[in-house]
Amino acid sequence: AECSLCIGVGSFSDLPEIPGIAHFLEHMVYMGSEKYPQYDFHEFISKHGGYTFALTEHEHTKFIFSIQDKHLLPALDRFAQFFIKPLMKKDAIIQERKAIESEFQLALPNDDIRKAQLMASLARIGHPVNKFTCGNLITLRDNVDDDKLYEELHKFRKRHYSAHRMKLAIQATLPLDTLENYVTKCFADVPNNGLPPDNFTAFKDGVSFDTPTFRKMYKVKPFNDTNQLQITWAMPSVLDFCRSKPCEYIAWIIEHKGKGSLISYLHKKMWGFNLFSCSHESDFENNSMYALFKIIVVLSREGQQHLEEILNALFSFINLLKKEGPQKRIYDEICTIEENDFRFLGLTDNVEDLCKTMHFYVPHDYITGNGNLYFEYNPEAIQKCLNYMLPETANIMIFNKDFDCPELNKVEPWFKTKYTDIEIPEKWIERWKSIEPLPDFNLPLPNTFITSDFSLISMPAEMPKYPIQLHKDDISEIWYGPFDLPRCSMNFHFVSSLERQSLKNVALMKMYCNVLKMLLIEDLYPALAAGFTYDIFVDEEGIIIKLDGFNEKLPLLLMTIVRYMVDYPTLVTKDLFEIAKVQKLEILYNKFREPDKLVKEVKLQKLNVSHYTNVDMYTTLCDVNFEEFQDFVKSFTNHLFIQCLVQGNMTQDAVIETVRQCIELINCDPLPSSTSSQMKVTQIPLGTYYCKLKNINNSDINSVVTNYYQASDTSMELSMLIELLVMIMKGPLCIQLRIQEQLGYNVLCDFVDFNLGYSISVHTQADKHTTEHVDQRIEEFLKSFNKILEEFSEEKLDDVKEALITLKRSANFVSVKEIVERNWNEIISYKYMFDRFEKETLAIKNIKITELREWFAKHTLNGSNFRKLSVHVIGTDPKEITVKKANSE
Ligand SMILES: [Zn+2]
Repeated sequence: AECSLCIGVGSFSDLPEIPGIAHFLEHMVYMGSEKYPQYDFHEFISKHGGYTFALTEHEHTKFIFSIQDKHLLPALDRFAQFFIKPLMKKDAIIQERKAIESEFQLALPNDDIRKAQLMASLARIGHPVNKFTCGNLITLRDNVDDDKLYEELHKFRKRHYSAHRMKLAIQATLPLDTLENYVTKCFADVPNNGLPPDNFTAFKDGVSFDTPTFRKMYKVKPFNDTNQLQITWAMPSVLDFCRSKPCEYIAWIIEHKGKGSLISYLHKKMWGFNLFSCSHESDFENNSMYALFKIIVVLSREGQQHLEEILNALFSFINLLKKEGPQKRIYDEICTIEENDFRFLGLTDNVEDLCKTMHFYVPHDYITGNGNLYFEYNPEAIQKCLNYMLPETANIMIFNKDFDCPELNKVEPWFKTKYTDIEIPEKWIERWKSIEPLPDFNLPLPNTFITSDFSLISMPAEMPKYPIQLHKDDISEIWYGPFDLPRCSMNFHFVSSLERQSLKNVALMKMYCNVLKMLLIEDLYPALAAGFTYDIFVDEEGIIIKLDGFNEKLPLLLMTIVRYMVDYPTLVTKDLFEIAKVQKLEILYNKFREPDKLVKEVKLQKLNVSHYTNVDMYTTLCDVNFEEFQDFVKSFTNHLFIQCLVQGNMTQDAVIETVRQCIELINCDPLPSSTSSQMKVTQIPLGTYYCKLKNINNSDINSVVTNYYQASDTSMELSMLIELLVMIMKGPLCIQLRIQEQLGYNVLCDFVDFNLGYSISVHTQADKHTTEHVDQRIEEFLKSFNKILEEFSEEKLDDVKEALITLKRSANFVSVKEIVERNWNEIISYKYMFDRFEKETLAIKNIKITELREWFAKHTLNGSNFRKLSVHVIGTDPKEITVKKANSE
């Protein structure tokens, strides 16, 4: 079951003197209620196989949890009490604001958040958006008296957390009457004050960003290696147009990646990697006062030198849109695509979005509105939005990490983003007003991938439960499973022996995959737009290609990709190779700068699960040249073993025929018979092993500690036992380390399956705790967990077992996609245990609490089989950063 509650209030209502109070309140209501004074909601939920989180936006606050159906009522009752009589005691306030500070520290390196904060500062003075929404210790401790904070929190709640402003969505496999009963029973006492929301009408009608500071060009230094050009227009609110979606229509055309598109042109010029538009995802961009329409170009290095030309192209494309006017044909295509998606691709867990959608639509349209349907064509609204996209009202931001610091003479006060602003040259604006559409541009062509035939091929009455093998020889194996929806999934694993030979080949393989994807973009974009998905990625043995969509046109999609693989050597150019390489290097660079990714990699490398880190990959890829790449491309399809799984509304004969055609086209020889690639995971010697390293970005204060506790043998029974252990541990761990000790906002406990064991990770900040301290607290927790296990009864374990089985069932059987994924994993791991779930269920049922206790005792400090790898990535103390800066200045 899932439940989600959305209140029509958010950070726009923050008191100017207490920024972040709306967010803080969202945290505080969880801290016990009169009826349930313990702070144990998280524990209650995780114990029963669920999760919970909350989110504060600008005009909405969402609270979400999931749980097994049979525990829904008690969970719902606890949850409802947060909105009836939460305690919000003073000591809890003092404790929980540290969590807000941690959240703020985690947000600091996030460029999207930094960008939004800078943008918010360009609004009119006194505008509700012109605030610091997250909150931190400065706004919630230093700048406010504790009594005042206490008082205002309670006041805010009474003023805004009122039943008439709440929407609730619940989803469970229980009868509707039962659900209705539950809701009335639990929520009847939520107070209703009947008060209207805060009045923001003064900022309606497009005045929000009608400021000279908005209409400028900004040069901004991002935290990560992001190079972007962003153009933004502010319009009056478009919430009233949610049925016709004029902005979404415009964005759809601007982001189109097919022939004649803006991004196709930028690709050809090697100026841009990608382009996004609009996306009214959050309240920040789309609310009752204004809408921000954005176009973001992800720039190449080449592109950074041609900003003026890129802007010319952009305005030339917008002028094309204006000249051609709203197009019913395109609107109808989008309409059909969204309808097909809604009818056949299935929305499952959507209560989180649903409860927010309910604020905008009439009840009749709740479900379809949430399905993103286009209800009515409104050319006037489209034209109106287009009219707002003028050169003279645009905001332009350029993000480049190489911007020189002295040049960037301004600092955004909360996130300390460095930037400078300049006037947009008058002659640019004049040129953009009248620039003609480039001959390269056209509006999206009619889409040939849109499915019209949804008729089903009749399937045998007795459908096999697991995939069956249709064919196997030394070139390929074909697995097949039918089902009776008008869809199909096709998965291919092209196994090659090249990657095992060297790290360089691993890098080449990644490049092979990236360049192939770039080659395919233009031709396959219409398929993506029409609801198909394809994914191409590298694994340890070669590449995997996954296709999914309506079965009518799926073979067409497959053959297009295979044809590109065959023609690859003649299609690839040096320019394309260079741009893909730069892009890949940028991605790698950003990856190893993130402490949580780094810690994971170091762990995997130490255990020999992965024989390289992104740092190694980065240095190797730097040396790869185009000639080597060409040779690799030519040789890749020479020797392959092809694994394939087709599941969907196709007959056996059609599957065999489709795959045969594709293999014939590839025309490869079998793999040279060689040893399998089974790697051996390193066994950690008895005791504790530490690996400590400094954060790669020396201005990042975030630290991460991951402790991995390894088992010394492997079996399905043991693996289930550790999964149960982890489930029991999650709740108390979070209470102890996150809530009580405030070590950090992210405290995680995970089951590790590559070589059995479990890991505990804690994210903290260098100025708060040393990683040694965190490590020691984790050990201390494990000691106390021994006691928890001692008191854990067989009955309580039965609950956990059931929760785990439910979790596994829902991960395995809910959607067609998950079923295919489960089968596919069995095939590519060469295990072929399609009834794994049934076997695991049996194993779980047989586990006794005494076995858990024994295993845990053996594998904790001073136990006979204690093997621990502790990896620390250590952030930089802010004091050190300041000292360094002072020295350099
Ligand atoms: Zn939060």
